[in-house]
Amino acid sequence: MDVTATPLSPRRRTRQIAVGSVKVGGDAPISIQSMTTTKTADVEGTLQQIYALAGAGADIVRCTCNDQAAAEGLAQIVPRSPVPIVADIHFHVEMALAALEAGVNGLRLNPGNLRKPEEIKLVAREAKDRGVPIRIGVNAGSLHPDLYERFGGATPEALVESARMELAYFQEVGFEDVKISVKASSVATMIAAYRLASETFDYPLHLGVTEAGPLPGGLLKGTAGIGTLLAEGIGDTLRYSLTADPVEEARAGRMLLEVLGLRERQGLDLIACPSCGRAEVDVIKIATEAQAALGALQLPIQVAVMGCVVNGPGEARHADLGIAAGKKRGHLFIQGQIIRVVPEDEMVEALVEEAKKIVEQGVEARLAARDLSAEAEAAADRADLLDAKGSDANNAGLKIERIRRRSE
Ligand code: SF4
Repeated sequence: MDVTATPLSPRRRTRQIAVGSVKVGGDAPISIQSMTTTKTADVEGTLQQIYALAGAGADIVRCTCNDQAAAEGLAQIVPRSPVPIVADIHFHVEMALAALEAGVNGLRLNPGNLRKPEEIKLVAREAKDRGVPIRIGVNAGSLHPDLYERFGGATPEALVESARMELAYFQEVGFEDVKISVKASSVATMIAAYRLASETFDYPLHLGVTEAGPLPGGLLKGTAGIGTLLAEGIGDTLRYSLTADPVEEARAGRMLLEVLGLRERQGLDLIACPSCGRAEVDVIKIATEAQAALGALQLPIQVAVMGCVVNGPGEARHADLGIAAGKKRGHLFIQGQIIRVVPEDEMVEALVEEAKKIVEQGVEARLAARDLSAEAEAAADRADLLDAKGSDANNAGLKIERIRRRSE
């Protein structure tokens, strides 16, 4: 899969920086970030969470560095972490310096609460000496009060101006190893702010809707904001901010990039028809069971669960594998071709078994091994179902006729 050949808007070209081993910006893959919720001083607990986040797709993990014990924890965490570690800094310049001392791969500074120019320049100088990049992490909720007053609120222009001012301090000391975020909890404000930031700067942009909240609302807000910008070619790295286990943030980031075609699919993509009057099984139940059984295996394939064999295999012919219900039986298909017929109560089991074989042997081999009589059986089921329910299984024709009669 060539993730650079996307029908979305071409990605806006930014400079490239390196957060430890992960490149951000330029032509680097869009990276996924998340943040630990443990106390950073709890080294083992934090590392456990970092490993879980890396397993779920996080490329970079941020940890708070809010006191001396956290900084000391970072000194032990960074060398043992499977992914680069960024220290999150608010208010205290000495925590930024301590995190650099601990060997972090990146810093996030909040210009809204670290305001003294001399302190900002001191951190930038130290970061420059160590080759450590800094994210200018503007947040609408903690915007500098002067800017809030000048712009009449946390407007997109105010957020971008905050980043520009911080950048100017960095540039005074020749520090350019920067990425920028202009997050807001309002999706509309965040989208407008990033669009403006993208026109204003050529530094990599870190996308996010801040304080998006619990699932499912938080997920929707993050997806609306981050997804819109990615589709416009804006953004080099991202983080979902959810009030949930951070593993959900990493999973969501990964899934968003996969569904937009910006990342190679690593795990399962289960699609299912919405069901209708033609469905021969409880599609929601079968799809939920299939998701649970296949999801745990993390197979990198697309699997379809379709309610009927009349339309299912055709509608899901792009899927690697699928199953469609016939008359009390399931029709397994690979890329639209029926390969096997199984009893209805074995549909999920058969899907799992075939999915594993596809991953092991490949689609071509599994198509070659198909049951040659399966297509004829599917055709018979299709014909029976059409006879039983006609071509208007939802009785729409009858209803339309009644509506017309009423208006006569
Ligand atoms: S026609 Fe068949 S495949 Fe399409 S929504 Fe209805 S049940 Fe599902």
